[in-house]
Amino acid sequence: MEIRFDGKRAMVTGAGKGIGRDIAKALHKCGADTVALSRTQADLDSLKEECPGIQIVTQDLSDWTRTRDTVSDLGNFDLLVNNAAVQRVGPFLEFGEKDIDFIFDTNFKGVFNVTQTVARGMVERGTGGAIVNISSLAATRGFDRHSLYCPSKAALNSLTQVLAIELGPKKIRVNSVLPTVVMTDMGRLGWSDPAKANPFIARTPTGRFAEVEDVTNAVLFLLSDKAAMINGTMLPVDGGYLAN
Ligand code: NDP
Repeated sequence: MEIRFDGKRAMVTGAGKGIGRDIAKALHKCGADTVALSRTQADLDSLKEECPGIQIVTQDLSDWTRTRDTVSDLGNFDLLVNNAAVQRVGPFLEFGEKDIDFIFDTNFKGVFNVTQTVARGMVERGTGGAIVNISSLAATRGFDRHSLYCPSKAALNSLTQVLAIELGPKKIRVNSVLPTVVMTDMGRLGWSDPAKANPFIARTPTGRFAEVEDVTNAVLFLLSDKAAMINGTMLPVDGGYLAN
């Protein structure tokens, strides 16, 4: 099954590193006019060196007003991947308001803000579009010391469902992808300890964590017309962990 995005304009947030970087490169390779938005300039510079055809944009999504302005200035999009997120692992009893804001400003408010700005353009043009939110297996389960990250991803899944209903009639599909652990910078933060990782892998029928490409492939499918009837879904990329 060949997937092409020729003639489409796409934005990927958090495209400086890890999963988002791979998605941006894949979209570009599949013919999309691709914008990679992220926070650290050096990451974007190295992405531009690797793929000169990708447009890079530096923006911290936790700044509501600047993000709104930046994304508005970028013009119209057909495809959006809300990938940027932050993680903070620690004991529930010690987290404070600043920790809550740190997680939710990017993982929920950032997605809300970018999606609203992009979707308004899609609706005005009347050409529709496809949006994929990178959620997590952590949205479906409680994980020890994840009292901020898990709820932020559960909120994101809920947003996916509501937007599927509100935007579906306007020809905009919205879906979530729920990866298991991927050994990016974020993955290493929580899962480097074999004592924690090994039981998790043992419960995964395919016997491994996900690779970045496993997530990218699911995202490309959901963005494409091959998924024209898929809207509001939560697609696990978890090797069967949730089935176990
Ligand atoms: P990384 O931490 O490796 O990369 C995240 C990228 O997002 C970085 O480029 C980061 O920039 C950027 N970013 C974070 N916050 C902001 C912000 N406020 N504004 C702009 N850019 C920002 O994460 P992953 O690639 O591992 O994760 C990608 C997505 O996949 C996330 O949504 C994550 O929750 C999800 N996920 C990851 C899993 C894993 O095990 N890795 C498992 C399940 C889901 P900077 O480096 O400057 O902070």
